[in-house]
Amino acid sequence: MNTAAHPNTTPPQHPLIVVTDLDGCLLDHHSYSAQAAEKALKTLKSLNIPCVFNSSKTYGEMLALREKLNNPDPFVCENGGAIFIPKSNGHGYNSEILHSSYLAILKVLHSLRQQGFQFRGFNDMTATEVAALTGLSVEDAHLAKQRSASEPLLWTGSDEQLTDFRRALAMHNLRLLSGGRFHHVMGPNDKAHGLEFCRHHYQTLWQQPVRVIALGDGENDRAMLSAADFAIVIPGIKSTLDLQHPQLRIASKAGPAGWNETLLSLLDDLFKEAHSG
Ligand SMILES: [Mg+2]
Repeated sequence: MNTAAHPNTTPPQHPLIVVTDLDGCLLDHHSYSAQAAEKALKTLKSLNIPCVFNSSKTYGEMLALREKLNNPDPFVCENGGAIFIPKSNGHGYNSEILHSSYLAILKVLHSLRQQGFQFRGFNDMTATEVAALTGLSVEDAHLAKQRSASEPLLWTGSDEQLTDFRRALAMHNLRLLSGGRFHHVMGPNDKAHGLEFCRHHYQTLWQQPVRVIALGDGENDRAMLSAADFAIVIPGIKSTLDLQHPQLRIASKAGPAGWNETLLSLLDDLFKEAHSG
């Protein structure tokens, strides 16, 4: 029996949820390890506070990671594009696509290619090609290719055509997020939508208002952090996100070590407050 599949139906003493980015945040930027955050993760579990992973990763990538970290909670994939809630019988997930499904995106891309736009998406590539381009193992490239709500692509046309491409996507209510080597075609979703969905999910489940602690390190975490009641910024490799928030903490360490220290100290302060008030 998979004990990791039990959803959190019992309200915690403090109705809180944690929503977190993964790479460079809960996971170390280089080793992808969450080991330095073990204490805080255990504390959340003992307090029955869900820890929702909210990242650009795909369903398959998230499943593997949740299993490794023994995390039973809902998770948000592909920058708020898809949300997976474990079923109450412990078998499988209910999924929610917030804007555009992968098939709908592929359909639009197919028609744009007919119009002469030049690109190669993950759907056009073998896992071996994706592995070579991303540095992932072939096995992990298979997981990265199983998509729910966005398509990474390599642009092979001109810069001018890229501007037209962006405009053409917008006509289909799709946007192009450019990051590093790949451009990502996705709906108008972002990680904040995933956060709000999960807040609502737990408010319904627990029948009371739920406060959200969000942790992130990147520009694509900004909306998610802004939507949270408590924002924890994890310093980035090159720079630290400049965020205005009434309940902001900036970790003094990068990655999972900062995640651990700052989250534990916030929980400590919140519980002290609750007990004195
Ligand atoms: Mg990150």
